[in-house]
Amino acid sequence: MSDKPISTPSNFIRHIIDEDLKNGKNGGQVLTRFPPEPNGYLHIGHAKSICLNFGVARDYQGQCNLRFDDTNPHKENLEFVEAIQADVKWLGFDWGGKPFYASDYFEQLYGFAMELIDKGLAYICDLNAEQTREYRGTLTEPGKNSPYRERSIEENRDLFQRMRAGEFADGAKVLRARIDMASPNINLRDPTLYRIRHGVIHHQTGSEWCLYPMYDFTHPISDALEGVTHSLCTLEFEDHRPLYDWVLDNISIPCHPQQIEFSRLNLQYTVMSKRKLTRLVEEGIVEGWDDPRMPTIAGLRRRGYTPAAIREFCDRIGVTKSDNSIEMAILESCIREDLDAHAPRAMAVLHPLKVVLSNYPEDKTEMLSAANHPKDEAMGSRQLPFSRELYIDRADFMEVAPNKKFKRLVLGGEVRLRNAYVIRCDEVIKDNAGEPIELRCSVDMDTLGANPEGRKVKGVIHWVSAQHGIRAELRLYDRLFTVPHPDSDKSVTDFVELLNPQALRTLTDCILEPGLAKAAEGSRYQFEREGYFCFDAKASRADLPVFNLVVGLKDSWAKIEQQD
Ligand code: ATP
Ligand code: MG
Repeated sequence: MSDKPISTPSNFIRHIIDEDLKNGKNGGQVLTRFPPEPNGYLHIGHAKSICLNFGVARDYQGQCNLRFDDTNPHKENLEFVEAIQADVKWLGFDWGGKPFYASDYFEQLYGFAMELIDKGLAYICDLNAEQTREYRGTLTEPGKNSPYRERSIEENRDLFQRMRAGEFADGAKVLRARIDMASPNINLRDPTLYRIRHGVIHHQTGSEWCLYPMYDFTHPISDALEGVTHSLCTLEFEDHRPLYDWVLDNISIPCHPQQIEFSRLNLQYTVMSKRKLTRLVEEGIVEGWDDPRMPTIAGLRRRGYTPAAIREFCDRIGVTKSDNSIEMAILESCIREDLDAHAPRAMAVLHPLKVVLSNYPEDKTEMLSAANHPKDEAMGSRQLPFSRELYIDRADFMEVAPNKKFKRLVLGGEVRLRNAYVIRCDEVIKDNAGEPIELRCSVDMDTLGANPEGRKVKGVIHWVSAQHGIRAELRLYDRLFTVPHPDSDKSVTDFVELLNPQALRTLTDCILEPGLAKAAEGSRYQFEREGYFCFDAKASRADLPVFNLVVGLKDSWAKIEQQD
């Protein structure tokens, strides 16, 4: 699939950067970062942040760091670290060298915490979690000072060192910033900066630390240490910005990145919270993080999405400060447009119905040429074997046309086989239940290629030679949830009740044109009149290739009829 040319959709963040560059701020540099926590796989919401951060860096000749926000070791692991790197690369972005880890800065962070203690701006607090909550107050009531708030600098230093040395149990003590328990912004009511976590092996630092810094302390300092100029994050961090600035204003660090918030991507009919996605994986509700039903990058990749389509989607939805929820149709139209232009055409029969051409020699096979793409000659053509026995789709035959719109095959009627001849149905053979199991047809050998004079055959259907076709499994996907907003749906107590049981339907007896036996991992096709499909190497067996439905065709009928 081709790459989309570099584009620069403007947005309010780019306007801020333009202004900064005009004013000579940051020495004319632009440095952004993408800071995932390695506690799950990346999803399409992360793609928005990735395209924004890496896209800004690319367009302003800057750099974007990939930084793992790895301060919560019990939920993080190396599998996630590796998957995140693979997904960012697959999306087409490069962080130039090695990724960064917040854990790279643990020693420096500890030093800055000591500096706050020395300035009387941080203290060790012994309140337990419940007491801390009580003392914090509410949105309408101010908090109360902790009884430990007035500890001396010496005592705080000593306790902090002993916390690091492992003298205290989890939860026995925390380090808190000393800001303002009456602040209208709850984030400023002496937030916790460090907590104790014994017995976890950190994927980067092993068991070196039992003291872990909080996100709100780690993030601004990591940004500043890397020389980030614009720290772009989602709106829920807007209320944390005063704390971000407070940390940097109160430690000896020469750099002060600007935090700018934008709205998260919400996509209809799916969920984006890592907690919920983790549950679907851990409870085996989906096959794994790369299940093609998942909104993860790995799932979308396995489903058959292209990086270009995902980047195009991120461009189309734009970057603003207003919360909204995006229709799945927008994502689907991005991949459909990409595949319409770039996916070779092929024929696949999903529900096979046998056709015997009674006037076609039994031992004959001819090779018919078929264009790989109706509009792109450069994609070449292929040879399709044609023989006496074929499969067509059950849905393409009815004994009697149900209405005038039915342009497919009926008893006594004619239809064109795509890239081949016109056939007429002479006889229907049915099973005991009255279901057609075989059609006896005659083929008009004068009808190959352009329609001969005066011959009007409206319908065109696809087919595969019975002798040459290969059997395959096709997995048809639909939305993961039955409602557009599973996150806020109040009709159920547990969101899994809203899962769509039809999100995956498996067809195991499909017949594909023989060339598809050579499909490579991730190769995508338009199965004519059916949809876009992607070969799934992971799910395939030697005797049963598996293809995933990427996205359906919008208006298959109209298109096919025009082509004939
Ligand atoms: P969760 O809240 O589900 O745990 P998270 O947002 O905390 O997920 P991170 O790994 O911390 O996940 O996210 C890394 C970056 O991606 C952050 O800067 C975050 O703001 C951004 N991001 C996460 N989800 C979205 C989303 N839906 N839309 C846009 N950006 C997102
Ligand atoms: Mg986060």
